[in-house]
Amino acid sequence: MRDSPQFNLSAELLDWYDRHAREMPWRVGPADRAAGVVPDPYRVWLSEVMLQQTTVAAVRDYFTRFTTRWPTVQALAAAPDDQVMGEWAGLGYYARARNLLKCARVVADKHNGRFPDTYDALLDLPGIGPYTAAAISAIALDRPETVLDGNVERVMARLYDIHDPLPGSKPVLKERAAALTPELRPGDYAQAVMDLGATICTPKSPACGICPVQTPCLARAAGTQPELPKKSPKKPKPTRFGHVYIAQHPNGAFLLERRPDKGLLGGMLGWPGSDWSETPPEAPPFSAEWRALNGEVRHTFTHFHLVLRIWTAPLPEGTEPDGLTLLPKHDFKPGDLPTVMRKAYDMWRGQ
Ligand code: SF4
Repeated sequence: MRDSPQFNLSAELLDWYDRHAREMPWRVGPADRAAGVVPDPYRVWLSEVMLQQTTVAAVRDYFTRFTTRWPTVQALAAAPDDQVMGEWAGLGYYARARNLLKCARVVADKHNGRFPDTYDALLDLPGIGPYTAAAISAIALDRPETVLDGNVERVMARLYDIHDPLPGSKPVLKERAAALTPELRPGDYAQAVMDLGATICTPKSPACGICPVQTPCLARAAGTQPELPKKSPKKPKPTRFGHVYIAQHPNGAFLLERRPDKGLLGGMLGWPGSDWSETPPEAPPFSAEWRALNGEVRHTFTHFHLVLRIWTAPLPEGTEPDGLTLLPKHDFKPGDLPTVMRKAYDMWRGQ
């Protein structure tokens, strides 16, 4: 960043945030905060867990549904697992939903329903890593913690014209971000940098002409902002293959399985199926007149692409194989399935 004695970056950014803060259902805006409204750590925590690996737009409706149904951490802690997993369906990364429940129960049982108020104690809770602990500390408790998400990384890399690629450059970017965090209004400041990255210092075509911190920005001066931050090349994702089996009883009931708690889609309801591997898999869960549907379901997880073949059969009378659940038609809600399983259902329904 360029030295500029007249330029106070955090003050300029806070001033900009006061006028342009994004409205979000979990956020206490700068005017409300100035009027003494204190953010609810439960809502901050829930939003931060939901926002990992996804966008504000994708999370809004989930957040509203969760907080309408479970307005407090105690209410969430008391909710049955399958209802929470059902509400989470479609958000992905299902381990987060399981940890969400574990964390809610620890806060309800061991902390009297109040989130702890130090970074270290937050870090001890299930599913809370350094990023989320810093975000709750800064946003809910107004502590000067450094919240380093993708937006903040991009803003720091550009302000300081840092060309070392991510993820290796994270510690340097964090150091820079920490050095800029003010003692006054650190919670608003953390959100201001994130908003700047999300709305002005965007990955493509940053709007430098209207940026409140354009004066000291080194990348803008050098013309390198479009190429920052640099990223180490990613390894190509492998493709795995699998089969799922959709069987329906003449009375409309479906045969489903609850996936094991550990592993991908853990704890979610899905169609019985094979393992997902790079070699084609084993036999169906029971013998029936299986028919393959035309086409395949394709889905991409963090570490691999998945190609699924879908098979269907009428469920022979009296069949209920071990470990599977016959779910009556009126209890079956496609929206409770994780996205890949819902894609399989949609294909089945279309044929
Ligand atoms: Fe980003 Fe441009 Fe602002 Fe620099 S001047 S922080 S590159 S938007």
